[in-house]
Amino acid sequence: MKIANLKSLKDLNKKAILNLVRYQGPLSRAEIANITELSATTVSSVVREFIEEGVLEEIGEGVSRGGRKPVLLRFNPNSFWVIGVEIEGNFIAAALMNLDLAIVKKIKKNLPDSSEFGVIREVASLVKGLTRSSANEEVLGIGIAITGLVEEGVVKRSVNLGWKNVPLRDLLEREIPDIPIYVDNIGKVGVLGEKHAGNGLKKENFIYVRVGTGISANFIFGGQLYRGSKGYAGEFGHMTLEPEGPLCHCGNRGCLEALASGWAIAERMKKIALSDKKCKIWEIVENETAITAKTVEEAARAGDEAALQIYREAGYYLGVGIANLVHLYNPELIVVGGGVSRAEELLMKPLLESLQSRLLDELKDSVRVVPTILGDDENLIGAGALVVEKVLQ
Ligand SMILES: [Zn+2]
Repeated sequence: MKIANLKSLKDLNKKAILNLVRYQGPLSRAEIANITELSATTVSSVVREFIEEGVLEEIGEGVSRGGRKPVLLRFNPNSFWVIGVEIEGNFIAAALMNLDLAIVKKIKKNLPDSSEFGVIREVASLVKGLTRSSANEEVLGIGIAITGLVEEGVVKRSVNLGWKNVPLRDLLEREIPDIPIYVDNIGKVGVLGEKHAGNGLKKENFIYVRVGTGISANFIFGGQLYRGSKGYAGEFGHMTLEPEGPLCHCGNRGCLEALASGWAIAERMKKIALSDKKCKIWEIVENETAITAKTVEEAARAGDEAALQIYREAGYYLGVGIANLVHLYNPELIVVGGGVSRAEELLMKPLLESLQSRLLDELKDSVRVVPTILGDDENLIGAGALVVEKVLQ
């Protein structure tokens, strides 16, 4: 079957041709041969295979440079599908996407049983729900975005889920044997989402800072994801900013995560609210367990000074941390994502002020810092991007 060719796209010439048309198309066969320096025969035979698979399509004639007008080729993003799955502490979501990572169908459910068995059962049922109308052969793969440290498909540790050493990919492959499965940390997946469908499109050097319950930074350097020696690069949340600062759940003091994460924002508000019964947050929540970064944001928007101050400080510390990243890596772009980034200007304004006040003059105009454009779908799109990255790149 022709489809198997795309699933095992090992031939580097094929990859080069496909990605060239994908990013720079429409192009003619002659233009492809020129740019890739491959022979006309190789280009013709690869293009013929891609047309049979439906990945490339002919779209009429281009401009002639003398002689017959060339036929132009373009990438067809709807020739195959990818599935992205997001596993958080209390919910699970999955989406079917085309190869441009446009979501065509999405399912989100609560996760009452977050044990590995509960999660595997839910993933299998979500995938079944999404693939009902399309043949499995048309799904290139399933990408799984999960909070925690992931090494070669094994979740080494996930604080949110209470997991240690769970061989998630192997367990899922037993349930879903006919579709390739890829598992990675939610921040790594997030930077791939930005690279393939977000602000990082066509950028060679950029950093994705994820501010959620925890904080991470993930890097695209020279167009490639940087993982570090064991895949754990990016634990930005545990960069020390205040050596005598508040205790972090990692055991150290003054980590960025203990100063600016969703968890830290909620903890600070809880402390203030419990000692001040007149605090505005009590008009929004009934008890302290409902105090989250989201409800603190609501209180800030309602004008609560304590909540505004908490966001100002979180933004301040993020700006300090990001200034360290810019001085170290000189990226062209920093994308800020994760649930806390939805607070938009409440977080971004103090963040940008604190960042600008710290950057070396030469670096001040060298970097753009922007919130993600992918919104609440960023993790699902990232999980889909993990498949696109593995199969097409
Ligand atoms: Zn820490």
